[in-house]
Amino acid sequence: GTLSVQLPDVTYDVHIGNDVYELFSSRYKSLLESADKVGIIVDEQVANLHLPVLVDALCKFGIQPIIKLVPAGEQCKTAAVYVDCQSFLLREGFTRNSLLFAFGGGACGDLTGFIAATYMRGIRFIQCPTTILAHDSAVGGKTAINLPEGKNMVGAFHQPTAVLFETSLFQTLPPREIRSGLTELIKHAFISDPVWSEQLLSRDSFVAPTEEWLEEELLKGIQVKADIVAKDEFEQSTRKYLNFGHTFGHAVEAVCGFGGLSHGECVMIGMAYSFILSERHGEIDASFTNRFLQFAEDNGYTFNPVLEHSFNEFLAFMIKDKKATNGEMNFVILKKLGSPVVKKMSTKECEEVFNELTSRIG
Ligand code: NAD
Ligand code: ZN
Repeated sequence: GTLSVQLPDVTYDVHIGNDVYELFSSRYKSLLESADKVGIIVDEQVANLHLPVLVDALCKFGIQPIIKLVPAGEQCKTAAVYVDCQSFLLREGFTRNSLLFAFGGGACGDLTGFIAATYMRGIRFIQCPTTILAHDSAVGGKTAINLPEGKNMVGAFHQPTAVLFETSLFQTLPPREIRSGLTELIKHAFISDPVWSEQLLSRDSFVAPTEEWLEEELLKGIQVKADIVAKDEFEQSTRKYLNFGHTFGHAVEAVCGFGGLSHGECVMIGMAYSFILSERHGEIDASFTNRFLQFAEDNGYTFNPVLEHSFNEFLAFMIKDKKATNGEMNFVILKKLGSPVVKKMSTKECEEVFNELTSRIG
């Protein structure tokens, strides 16, 4: 399937399916020919598994891409890797007229996007995501690297020129990454559509999806994201809804040390937290939250981090969040399924909700 992301200044297409790289010889022929150099920034692990798929698709068509390997996963989102890549591009003679590909998961996409946003003040790039999670990260133009002090603290808004989502690459994803990506999918359902949310919650094989099912469902997820970004590209208002489950989820990610749990597994915990907040300020009832908790556990998600760490450990990170303002934290909650709102929360209430969450799962 294909959809287009329409922003005030640019429009680009997102393609998802089997054999989407065929589009290089048709839809993207003139774009490729217009570039004086083509580079691929690729996650090392993805390179081991799949690099020929992308390189052959380009070579078949007379393009010899220059390859730059970067560390697998989150390890590539560092200032050191960022600078190393910039120097590499300069030594290889990349100009403002060159084109970069991001080939990897959300981490590689965020890094490559930030490189493209800043190399010679900005060059074009194409997202070729390889994880399910990247249906979220590859669309919308947020790019960033991490600092030792915090995740995504240095970045830019820079939209890709196209997103080519090849679903056959999912075959090698470990179960943990499948789970991680499906969290963002169900998040897109929760913030937009009660019927779709119910459909997902009642699936037996949620974490064992087929390629065809994924193509269809991810397209729906991307549409939700594209619609929100189209209305609020720079996150002044409604784009914040995409952070549902992320305020607490990021804190879990930070406390549990990157690497232990995947991003989506942490966000699943964050969504459970947000549902309890939503019970207090909206029409979500406790039985729904409990069903969600059961669904998550049935599908191999864990809530152990909240039992193993104290509230204050999480609080320290929530206060540092980019979106926190003078001691009050902003949470996205649901008035009801499909209807998100942003709410300010005091530390006291955050702690009460934390205690409620631990008692429900304990
Ligand atoms: P990731 O990029 O860290 O990849 C996870 C792991 O899967 C890595 O070890 C990688 O080597 C491996 N991998 C990737 N593709 C594979 C494949 N096809 N087969 C086997 N292994 C594969 O993780 P992710 O979940 O894709 O992305 C998470 C990142 O995305 C985080 O850094 C997060 O901040 C970012 N993110 C950004 C946005 C945004 O709007 N820019 C949104 C959500 C998340
Ligand atoms: Zn996320």
